Amino acid sequence: MPVNDRFETMVSQRHQYAREWKERTGGKVVGYMCTYIPEEVLYAAGMLPVRLLGEHRPESVTEAHMPGFFCSYTRGCLAEGLLGRYDYLDGIIAPHGCYQIRQAYAIWNRHASTDYKFYFFMPTVVRSSRAHQALVTETQRLRTSLQDWLGRPVTDEALRKAVDVYNANRSLLTRLYDLRKDDHSVIPGSQVLKIVLASQLMDKAEHTEALQGVLNSLSPGPVGEGVRLIVVGSEMDDPAMLELVESLGGDIVVDEHCAGSRYFWGQVGNGNDVVAAIARRYVDRPACPLYDQPDRRRTDHVLALARDYGVQGALLVHLKFCDPHEYDMPHLRTSLQKRGIPSLDLETDLTIPVGQFHTRIEAFMETIIPEG
Ligand code: SF4
Repeated sequence: MPVNDRFETMVSQRHQYAREWKERTGGKVVGYMCTYIPEEVLYAAGMLPVRLLGEHRPESVTEAHMPGFFCSYTRGCLAEGLLGRYDYLDGIIAPHGCYQIRQAYAIWNRHASTDYKFYFFMPTVVRSSRAHQALVTETQRLRTSLQDWLGRPVTDEALRKAVDVYNANRSLLTRLYDLRKDDHSVIPGSQVLKIVLASQLMDKAEHTEALQGVLNSLSPGPVGEGVRLIVVGSEMDDPAMLELVESLGGDIVVDEHCAGSRYFWGQVGNGNDVVAAIARRYVDRPACPLYDQPDRRRTDHVLALARDYGVQGALLVHLKFCDPHEYDMPHLRTSLQKRGIPSLDLETDLTIPVGQFHTRIEAFMETIIPEG
């Protein structure tokens, strides 16, 4: 199987992978929502952390539990849980994030309960002066809770090894992104998204090995003529959306959203206190808009990406009913406009309105590179 296909299969058969992993290793699988859960602690405890994802199709099972005006990410995850497709999970962790995640976590625990559950208190302003200490305390609380559940210690040595494994994976993903700075025909953005998604579902060391294979096999092709685009948004875990853009001549050369670069951006540094180092990464990395107020430093990061990747246009993709990200969009749009980068707002739900988006994306790209 070509190595790129392996990631595609991994994403579409993620439940099967996790079940097989459990059988093979005898370890526990813990599902988590949001990129703010310090996975290294789970990995150090010998577990497989898996990012909870929904399917991109309507499921009526959530209707009795969650209003239709919740985002499709939380509705999709909850549907998977209620339908028993995550019945192999031993535990679930959710952050103190947006209201919708909190509700999904509460409903999941009521109706699809797992053996272990943990609610991770995130500081609301992740760059406030006390945020780091709060995150250290919370990461330590997670560690203690896992130790109590498993009945064995999660040592500093195991944590350091986990950090090394995660940092190695982040380095390779960063290299994969760097390759597209100069040449957008090296690998399409839709394939990159599948690779990053697979990283959130597979054993990290195994993913790193497979990703190294991809990097070894990539060779620069002729520079394409497509429009160089950045995708900025909230949860954007549907490769079909990017495939649509690519089919219309867009080249997605970089992204800034929950399922893409925000997941792996930044390394855990060295330091005597490994828990403090893990927590530090969450403070320093580009923040999700939910935790980025009032400074909105994420904007500078998006602008720097747009500059470094030679972006010609921005697709601002956000899930319907996602207030934290919608609140950020006007500021982002204006900031990009001031740098001469046009943007297009695309609001998605469980499914993509292909016909409508087709017309709008095509028209948007024609304004950047007029036909003829
Ligand atoms: S997409 Fe928005 S509303 Fe949905 S879980 Fe993420 S932050 Fe919350």
